[in-house]
Amino acid sequence: MAKVGWWDGDWARTTAINDQSHMLDALDQSSLGMAESVQKLFQLDRRQGRDIARLEAKVEVLLELLVEAGTPREEIARRLEAKFPAQEKKTEESGSSALMVTCASCQQEVPANGTFFTETGEVCDACYAS
Ligand SMILES: [Zn+2]
Repeated sequence: MAKVGWWDGDWARTTAINDQSHMLDALDQSSLGMAESVQKLFQLDRRQGRDIARLEAKVEVLLELLVEAGTPREEIARRLEAKFPAQEKKTEESGSSALMVTCASCQQEVPANGTFFTETGEVCDACYAS
């Protein structure tokens, strides 16, 4: 099947990913100067910025087409909003950077976003509930 014209960004992204992989290999080789590596990473960053701008333009065109085809703007907005928070939550959960604290009551390590401040200190939700 022939590639759809507006989705030719796939090739650019694949190339960028390959470049990144090669770049990491290059970083391992001490023969390659660090300054050169940093410069290449900056170039890649600029290229990816252009890729994102192109993708945004494509999404804009698709949204315009949807509206022209009779899809209500409210429906599009509702669906987009339903999609984004779920994605952001997933990113937060997969991130290992969650701050851990020790419960003042049971001494267990718990994520800081699930604790409560009491007069005896910061406690986990299980201790807070009991
Ligand atoms: Zn506890």
